Amino acid sequence: APKLTIKDLHVAIEDTEILKGVDLEVKGGEIHAIMGPNGTGKSTLAQALMGHPRFEVTKGDVTLDEEDVLEMEVDERARKGLFLAMQYPSEIDGVTNSDFLRSAVNASREEGDEISIMKFMKKMDKTMAQLNMDESFANRYLNQGFSGGEKKRNEILQMMMLDPRIAILDEIDSGLDIDALKVVADGVNSMRKPDTGFLIITHYQRLLNYIKPDRVHVVMKGRIVKSGGPELAERLEAEGYDWVKEELGIED
Ligand code: ADP
Ligand code: MG
Ligand code: MG
Repeated sequence: APKLTIKDLHVAIEDTEILKGVDLEVKGGEIHAIMGPNGTGKSTLAQALMGHPRFEVTKGDVTLDEEDVLEMEVDERARKGLFLAMQYPSEIDGVTNSDFLRSAVNASREEGDEISIMKFMKKMDKTMAQLNMDESFANRYLNQGFSGGEKKRNEILQMMMLDPRIAILDEIDSGLDIDALKVVADGVNSMRKPDTGFLIITHYQRLLNYIKPDRVHVVMKGRIVKSGGPELAERLEAEGYDWVKEELGIED
């Protein structure tokens, strides 16, 4: 089973330190939720783990199965099984969803082990049906003209097709109506298995009504300031974040 280990991670954007020492371990079979107010560094964590060049790791270690993730190129991270479903997926003109997915799937596999077109189409059809996506989405240009909810669903389609070892979902619930939220949650739950660990970033507790996390972590000012079980998310939903600030003496 995979194991992602983050130790004392510091990340800067243009010389401003955003993450100030994050420690976290995510193993296969586990779902960790990252919660926290806006602007506290949740997306920064996700982007730094994937190797986005704008996010500079200034200190700390990240390993996947004892291998140094920070030394890996972006495509290598994907090949090793790291996946990020994004808050704002990009649109690509001229590339169909199906072509994009097939190259992503092939890029995640060893060279010379490309998936057959038949096998790929079968898996895509099945997964799209599971996500209640119309078949036409296969041949549309990537995210072009997709609604917010359709983009999020498409991110989950990508995740299910790639079958990552560690899946990071960044605010995949924002902008989803309750039906879409349930479809997305069902997709995630269908992938719960010892071979996959999840890091689910969310501002609201709502998604966690449908995806039961093993651990909940609160990020404030670039650090995980509190961790607990699912009951922590429920308290945050009921009471907001102020009590955490008070308890820990964090000033705005
Ligand atoms: P969250 O996901 O928790 O809402 P982010 O990780 O997106 O927070 O942002 C953390 C902080 O980093 C914020 O203060 C934000 O303004 C800043 N930040 C994010 N992206 C950039 C960027 N590209 N350039 C400069 N500052 C940024
Ligand atoms: Mg935000
Ligand atoms: Mg964010």
